[in-house]
Amino acid sequence: MPDIICKCKSVVPSNRKDCPACGRDCGFPNVRLASSSEEVAALEKRVADAQVSAAARQCGAQLASFAESVEGARAAIARNLHVIDDLIKGDRNHYTSYQAQVHAGARDPEENEWDRVRTQYESALYPNFQNEIIFACLTLSQEGMSGYGGFSIILKDEMIAHRASLFEENPHSFIERHQILMNKPFPPGYRAIWETKSDLAVAKLHSRIDSNTTIEDHASILQTDQGGTGDGDFIEVHIYGSVNRRAIDKVVGRKPRTFEDRIIWKRIQRELDSLGAEAVEL
Ligand SMILES: [Zn+2]
Repeated sequence: MPDIICKCKSVVPSNRKDCPACGRDCGFPNVRLASSSEEVAALEKRVADAQVSAAARQCGAQLASFAESVEGARAAIARNLHVIDDLIKGDRNHYTSYQAQVHAGARDPEENEWDRVRTQYESALYPNFQNEIIFACLTLSQEGMSGYGGFSIILKDEMIAHRASLFEENPHSFIERHQILMNKPFPPGYRAIWETKSDLAVAKLHSRIDSNTTIEDHASILQTDQGGTGDGDFIEVHIYGSVNRRAIDKVVGRKPRTFEDRIIWKRIQRELDSLGAEAVEL
């Protein structure tokens, strides 16, 4: 991604939000990256190819309907009850990035194949600002990926749209699929900004649409969940910065099994209610 020039004529490196000379806000680096002409042109090419393919398969209308559904998709973060309980307790509690938590000593990487290489692919995606990015899942089903926790925080669009970018899939799977060396930048065309999220979904998933596809199928085309961490397939939402409880639109989950967890869930429900947010029990 090219560096940009600030109003003050200084060069602003691609990883910086603020100008190093005058301190002016120069925009969220992940959104700037996804908006770069190279990324936009490459994604537009993929969308055009998807439309040609769908037309040839007599399902152009079904693809357009899928795109329309994805316009209304939400960002979901699945976590366990305890993480949500901490976040909901006060405005001063923040949900921060995995990298920031590890750096602060607040969290240790898991002993699994994903966390072992996570720092490498996050820094390949967002060179020198990976610590700022929190990860969510794009969903039409109101649920995040269950491998990360049984309760899903659905974020308010208003709190994230301007600072969110989207990425094709779990970067771990992407690297394997495209045989990308970690010392090379990611190829263009697999990122979008919030306003063009349906373009990314069309480019990625058009081959799963056919003339029999209905609106009811859209959620499971956009997102497949197989339970474990890193399993399943979904478009990732990458949000610059942290969120606090004011960014929560709703929390969605199943009634907890244990008495202790039911007490926590009740407390979360009360807090959500006082915030004007919703608790949804499936
Ligand atoms: Zn400046």
